[in-house]
Amino acid sequence: MLPLSTPITQLHRMAKALGTRMQKLEIRTVRDLLFYLPFRYDDFSSEKQIADLNVGDTATVLAMVELLRTIRVRGKRMTLTEAVLSDDSGQIKAIWFNQPFLKNSLPIGGKFYFSGTVEHKYYNKTFMKPVFEPAKEGHESIHTGGKIPIYPATEGISPKQIRFLVSLALKSVGNLEEGLPEFIQKDRHFLPLADAIRAVHFPENDEEIARGRERIEYEKWFWIQGRVAYLKKNLETLGAMPIPFHEENTKKWVGTLPFTLTDAQKKVSWRILQDLGRAIPANRLVQGDVGSGKTVVAFMAIANAFWGGFESVLLAPTEILAKQHFSSAKNILGGLEMPILLLTRSDKIFFDPKESADQKISEKEALFLIKETPNLLVIGTHTILEEKVRFLNLNLIIVDEQHRFGVRQRGILRSRFAKGGLYPHYISMTATPIPRSLALFLYGDLDVSMIGELPPGRKPVATHVVGDEDREKTYDFIRSQIAKSKQIFVICPLISPSDKLGVLSVEESLEHLKKDAFPDLDIRSLHGKLKAKEKDVIMSDFKQNKFPILVSTSVVEVGVDIPNATIMMIEGAERFGLSQLHQFRGRVGRAEDQSYCFLFPTDSSRDYARLLIMENTHNGLELAQQDLELRGAGDVYGTRQSGDFEAVFGDGNNDYSVLERSEWVEGVRADVESIFAENQKTGRYGDIVAHFESEAKGIFFE
Ligand code: ADP
Ligand code: MG
Repeated sequence: MLPLSTPITQLHRMAKALGTRMQKLEIRTVRDLLFYLPFRYDDFSSEKQIADLNVGDTATVLAMVELLRTIRVRGKRMTLTEAVLSDDSGQIKAIWFNQPFLKNSLPIGGKFYFSGTVEHKYYNKTFMKPVFEPAKEGHESIHTGGKIPIYPATEGISPKQIRFLVSLALKSVGNLEEGLPEFIQKDRHFLPLADAIRAVHFPENDEEIARGRERIEYEKWFWIQGRVAYLKKNLETLGAMPIPFHEENTKKWVGTLPFTLTDAQKKVSWRILQDLGRAIPANRLVQGDVGSGKTVVAFMAIANAFWGGFESVLLAPTEILAKQHFSSAKNILGGLEMPILLLTRSDKIFFDPKESADQKISEKEALFLIKETPNLLVIGTHTILEEKVRFLNLNLIIVDEQHRFGVRQRGILRSRFAKGGLYPHYISMTATPIPRSLALFLYGDLDVSMIGELPPGRKPVATHVVGDEDREKTYDFIRSQIAKSKQIFVICPLISPSDKLGVLSVEESLEHLKKDAFPDLDIRSLHGKLKAKEKDVIMSDFKQNKFPILVSTSVVEVGVDIPNATIMMIEGAERFGLSQLHQFRGRVGRAEDQSYCFLFPTDSSRDYARLLIMENTHNGLELAQQDLELRGAGDVYGTRQSGDFEAVFGDGNNDYSVLERSEWVEGVRADVESIFAENQKTGRYGDIVAHFESEAKGIFFE
């Protein structure tokens, strides 16, 4: 019998052969495999005689292979395999595509179970691509008959292979040890783990699936929540150097700003300065809608670190954004005689307040400055996290657009820059708001505050979903804005054309705009494949209004601040989530001028309703909630939002829909808390708390 921790490669040679592809699914051990849940099931439970099959039926038949041949489809790079299947009642044709090797697995005269759907094809009732397995004494069917699990397979691994490995794993492991404490198991009337796993992978009926899932999802989130709760408790025991609040200086500096702070900005800044003044590390997430003015709040904290004689870091997810922060920091903080360093893969620039000018420096010089300058501000990308970067007395880390960074990176930040048991203060900022109960669940280790107000005078960005028939009109309107010397963003989901999706790419859009729509205008494009230098030139030219239209991929999604841009036009808009569209829209409407956002769906009949929400809703939190309801948390905070969830939880196979049930979320939290409490009081559940700890350390202190 194998233990659950057995590496998956030792389960079967197939798993070994699938090696890295299994790793992509985060399946490393037998346990990972068993917890890798199907996302849906094909229902083949209806067993029929061939004569009784009707078009549209999904069913299983027991039949013999009468004939089988593979032909090459003329003019296409494709093969078609057709078979004639028979039972006592009659015959039916079956068809597969591009599986010429089928003749090896389906010998003439062999008896098999076939499961699939019957369609009207080629003038006849036809079984389309049925799955099959031999009808032999002693062969346990896992692919046909009953409810067949379908897994979120990746390229190069079929659901059939996963099914095979899961069934093997279920047979090879002995008894599955219960991971949950008994009281939870009892209170919640859970199935024993072994039954739950069997029920989920090879269910008899829907009720079994539901009960199995409930048990397994609970256990997954139980450990995640335990880890988060452990971190929270642990952080409270850590020490930090207080950064004193320089009240007089701060007031004077606020007076020099080109605007008055909003009440929300003042309140959150005050909270942060309180945090920084304590001898435990600040650990706060600042949420604020796009354009709410988070940067200046960060600068206020940085100014106080500077007055206290400490170094600070401002970390941005892209070079474009780092560069932009560098230039506003010079404007807004430079007057304090603050030394500022930009550190990205491609740029090392030092702003020396005594010279009041930028100096391009070498990496060696940059590293030296960081190690020797007591009150330096370092602005940059994740390059700052590299081992070779050593600080003299770093005491404040600010992470902008934190949802773009994984928890792992946050952990590195926290542990790597600790010195003599003291940790730097940590503030993160995001414009992708999440509902509060969810925030506590996911970031239980963070304090959360919200900048819930925009600076005065901002007009909501007028938003329209536009069909292709109104493209010309839109272009006329764009022309009228350019005549007023305003600028335009055009966003496309892809860089290069792809025939699969039919959405407009940056290249196609650029060509179309240059050739057909605005032959007289200078239009340029920006995407992730350009060199950093090229991107810089384009961004800085655009900022200086040297050209009117910028066609771009989502690289400008976060943070980019070009107040003179008034139109955001989005191609293939249905490909983006509402929160992401809201981020794009936030690139305009950053000054007093009325701004506009035009959403072009690829196919205006589809997904129109979802996009229409953008016309009437201008609040980021509301949009995030709508996104949650429409697409589920996995989509919203999962891969589409660049993987925060994946970074947090290590795999993409969790059922995020449970997070939409707030009483469920609260329940898991309460259970975890009661385990900690009981452990404190009586020492019980020591093994569970130890497990929370090791999970937390594995992620945070590697
Ligand atoms: P975000 O919260 O999206 O990061 P920014 O910090 O980039 O927003 O601020 C958006 C714009 O609003 C910037 O141009 C900034 O200078 C300006 N701004 C910030 N605070 C105020 C304020 N209180 N009044 C007016 N404009 C402000
Ligand atoms: Mg910002």
